Amino acid sequence: MPNRADEVSRASPGERAGRAGGGRAAHRAGSAGLARAADRVLAEVEAARDEIVAFTAEMVRVPTVNPPGDCYRECAELIGGRMERAGLTVQYIAAEGRTEHTASHPRVNVVGRGEGGADTPRLHLNGHFDVVPPGDGWTVDPFAGVVRDGRIYGRGACDMKSGIAAALFAVEAIRRAGVELTGAIDLSATVDEESGGFAGVAHLCEMGVISAAETGYAIIPEPFGPARVCVGHRGVYWFDIIAHGHAAHGSMSHLGRSAIDDMGALLEAFRTELGPDLARRRSALPVVPDASRHPSLNVNAITGGQAGADTQSPCVADRCVATFDRRFIPEEPFEEVRAEIERHVAAVQRDDPARRFTIEDRMIVHPVHAPAGSPLVAALSGAVETVCGRAAELVASPGTYDQKHFARIAGIEHCVAYGPGPLEEAHQPDESCAVDDLAASTQVLALTALKLMGVQAGPRGR
Ligand SMILES: [Zn+2]
Repeated sequence: MPNRADEVSRASPGERAGRAGGGRAAHRAGSAGLARAADRVLAEVEAARDEIVAFTAEMVRVPTVNPPGDCYRECAELIGGRMERAGLTVQYIAAEGRTEHTASHPRVNVVGRGEGGADTPRLHLNGHFDVVPPGDGWTVDPFAGVVRDGRIYGRGACDMKSGIAAALFAVEAIRRAGVELTGAIDLSATVDEESGGFAGVAHLCEMGVISAAETGYAIIPEPFGPARVCVGHRGVYWFDIIAHGHAAHGSMSHLGRSAIDDMGALLEAFRTELGPDLARRRSALPVVPDASRHPSLNVNAITGGQAGADTQSPCVADRCVATFDRRFIPEEPFEEVRAEIERHVAAVQRDDPARRFTIEDRMIVHPVHAPAGSPLVAALSGAVETVCGRAAELVASPGTYDQKHFARIAGIEHCVAYGPGPLEEAHQPDESCAVDDLAASTQVLALTALKLMGVQAGPRGR
């Protein structure tokens, strides 16, 4: 017999929204009421345009560079202050117990909860406020929050402080319009996405702060652009292969066994045999750019012998380590991805039985994507059409982001990425976001929330 918790977890988010909040669901506004509420909310976003831009620039001015994870508390508090003004109940959650959470670089996340009891259906909007180091090539100060010619410039302007501003002001616009939802919107701004999200979203999911038990839908406003909905991402398999040789004097190299030469043979087999196989596979997932619909293998690093040493002595390298980044598509089961690598390694060893390799896993991230026919994707797509005047393009990401934690740890399968900013500018010098895109994405997020959570009929939701 299923207990009550089972029942809740088996209900689809739509079903839960339908029976939400006991009596509240009975007063859900019809489509005319929803349309009127939507008009008011969209107008509030338009009226708040300058504030949205100013707040984005204010966040850009806090240099939350990761690594090492600077100014996290300051940025969390800046965002938390705004969440409070938007009517949310704010909580700061540090990643206690994680080694990267230190006195000099505390990992502080901030969560703002919308009003509502345990039965209230919830939409969660999450953004990461860490940014990658600025690097070279900037023509503006990366942390000045420059606004010029209709664009906001700076590290994080695109990836993804504009997304956090869009999420915040979507909630704020609904409040200012006096619209009451039959569900609630929760916000979170989190750390360390750029380094895996373990002290950020993963930590909140592990603590149960974000959980499928109460949250039906999640949107991560990563910078895919105002007319694109990102339904998921490919998988990642990072691993090291170590070639084991035998050291000898470099003048008598025939007495040794070069681990670098053996690694060379393996790299050649990957390039000429595995490479073409990967190029023939293509995912049904709409990964962008198109070339990334194929799986891939990249050699991320290679070290062997006395690599990097200024002074060299004549030695045959007895060890060579290569780090590989294998991106795989949902059509490739992970166990087969790993077995395929093992088969190639075994074949190269068979060619010369004196060769010896070992494989060590570093990281495995499985592909995730929102289910086909997800009401979340439908609501977002409809909102994009209303605001942008064109059909939404459904895409998938070549790389991973925090969606994996929402899906795998919290169990929230109806999770996508949608947010302002050209994806191509992420991590680039002179990163920027168009103000028009920021405003449009804010409207789309607000409208999506209205469609998904429903609007209360009555004096205020009229
Ligand atoms: Zn990002």
